[in-house]
Amino acid sequence: MEQAVTYLLVKSKCHVLPTDLDAVARSLRVSKITYGKIAAEGFVESDNLGGYQISIRIDRSLQRRRFSLAHELGHVLLNRMMDRPDAAISRQYRAHAQVAAKLDEEAIVDYIAGMLLLPPWALTRSLPESFSMQTVTQLARTAECSLPTALIRSIWQATSDCFAFHLRATRGRENSLRVLWVRTSRSIDHIDSLCALATLKSTGVIRWVVDGIDPRYCQDCDEGAIDRVQAMARDDGDQRIIYGIAWLHRTRASQAGLTRDKHLYQVTRGQNEGAAK
Ligand SMILES: [Zn+2]
Repeated sequence: MEQAVTYLLVKSKCHVLPTDLDAVARSLRVSKITYGKIAAEGFVESDNLGGYQISIRIDRSLQRRRFSLAHELGHVLLNRMMDRPDAAISRQYRAHAQVAAKLDEEAIVDYIAGMLLLPPWALTRSLPESFSMQTVTQLARTAECSLPTALIRSIWQATSDCFAFHLRATRGRENSLRVLWVRTSRSIDHIDSLCALATLKSTGVIRWVVDGIDPRYCQDCDEGAIDRVQAMARDDGDQRIIYGIAWLHRTRASQAGLTRDKHLYQVTRGQNEGAAK
């Protein structure tokens, strides 16, 4: 899949950020992109001339519109790959698709969208030497994509054990803190969301959220399993949304109830029961 997207980007002459999605659309025979007041974030349909037409919801942020467009382009790419079983690019996809036959097409398309917005070359250029929230934020700005997209794309490039998280809490309600997603670096295969929350709690993230301090970064939280946390908070009504990266402290991870088993971190039963709600 990565090869297919890279091929598409090269074909569309997209060598700099932000990715010129209109150029990608032209390569994929998208004849028209319209922005209008529609209920969905976007959709794609055939134009009866062997091409496609895409509609994108207009009353959204630039980043959201770009993601929606990249997503619809992902559908087109998939569709074209399926239509041409003789192409090498298509065979590769099919092999990939069979392994993950149950994988939701929407998830695959989101993955393609992320790669279009932040191609592999863009990540390797700025990461992992200076892998931090600052770099990721800068990357998101340059790529004109959202911070979550940049985080999800970046985390895979991290060379030390860490995970990215997206938390949401209601102001003044300590117990409302929820993990919306967690993504792990390639040095860890998986970390579950309860584990992430339990681990983060040990660094005082909850206190930090509830106190209503408005820090850009919370660094060097040298407690428990966490070596370092960098996070950014923003308010959305009475909700507080927090994005961040937490680096794991290899030696102390086990003391804090994290056991590493075949690259898999799990909460040791019992130790974090109170926290893992
Ligand atoms: Zn879709």
